Amino acid sequence: MSRSNAFLDDHAAMALALDEARAAAARGETPVGAVILDPTTGTVIAKAGNGPIGAHDPTAHAEIAAIRQAAQALGNYRLTDLTLVVTLEPCAMCAGAISHARLGRVVFGAEDPKGGAVIHGPKFFDQPTCHWRPAVTGGVMAEESAELLRGFFRARRGKATGPRP
Ligand SMILES: [Zn+2]
Repeated sequence: MSRSNAFLDDHAAMALALDEARAAAARGETPVGAVILDPTTGTVIAKAGNGPIGAHDPTAHAEIAAIRQAAQALGNYRLTDLTLVVTLEPCAMCAGAISHARLGRVVFGAEDPKGGAVIHGPKFFDQPTCHWRPAVTGGVMAEESAELLRGFFRARRGKATGPRP
């Protein structure tokens, strides 16, 4: 696969992840979406949105939900060489799960300076205690992802405080 094809594939996969993020927002969840695909065939194996509120499950981040779905679909607890595409930089919990799942590559959209753990905070994959490091590509369709999050929190703040004159 050529470099330019891989780039296009990242965008196409991120567009699917953004759809999941929008669906999450419609459920009142923070808009983050993830897909897992087989990079050799382009087959999408799992798609999930963020869902801790609806699931009463603090671990129900989009990445975790997609990892569970893919592992069930494949009947394997390891997702070696698969690619996870997520709209927001993964947190420490999800970075840990990505490493345990042995995903080959992580593609994320917007950076998350407050809660991210890949290029911010604990930088999980860079730690000597991390024993499986995926390849990482950040910033794919970052502006779309960030705008989705900004719009969601803007609307929520509006609801919480009521309209201002
Ligand atoms: Zn997470």
